[in-house]
Amino acid sequence: MTDGRSRLTVLAGPTAVGKGSVAADIREHHPEVWISVSATTRSPRPGEEDGVHYHFVSDEEFDRMVAEGELLEWATVHNSARYGTPRRAVEEVLATGRPAMLEIDLQGARQVRRTMPEALFVFLAPPSWEELVRRLVGRGTEDEEERARRLATAVEELAAETEFDVSIVNHEVHASAEELVALMRLGRGNSAPGHPSGHPS
Ligand code: 5GP
Repeated sequence: MTDGRSRLTVLAGPTAVGKGSVAADIREHHPEVWISVSATTRSPRPGEEDGVHYHFVSDEEFDRMVAEGELLEWATVHNSARYGTPRRAVEEVLATGRPAMLEIDLQGARQVRRTMPEALFVFLAPPSWEELVRRLVGRGTEDEEERARRLATAVEELAAETEFDVSIVNHEVHASAEELVALMRLGRGNSAPGHPSGHPS
């Protein structure tokens, strides 16, 4: 791109594949990468801080954000809480040219695909279905019924891989994080997939 704006990167993938861990690794090792802080209606988990991990908001506040067009995308995830990306922060960071990333669910990624098709869409894939099941069970944060629901969603989510520009197989979190940052560097000058750096689409 020629105007100094950076290209947004959107990281999505099935439940329990490790998107959150990859984002946390990038936050730790690559402070130059800006990662959007989403708004959510779910309650904070132990150790989560408002404004750092999420902006924890009420249902009424989330309704207001949606009504006023403050969210770039939003979705109800796992039939429970709502999550959304505050638009203004993303626009401001892209304008500075700083590498910027969203870690969101598939429904959100599809919305961004419609409104910002020039973004780089990265799918984080599990090494295998068995490994995805193992990670979901091993995490131990969901009960049996919730796990079954998330696995059903994961089947559909895996089928969406072909909608993405590129896939990273998440064998190991740090390696995946490094691969993603390297991709972001490569994609920096591109305004659209398939367009070489410096040639606006
Ligand atoms: P958790 O509650 O475990 O932090 O996140 C649950 C899911 O919500 C994850 O799949 C995560 O990618 C997704 N998520 C987090 N923030 C956003 C957001 O702003 N928009 C959308 N669409 N999904 C999000």
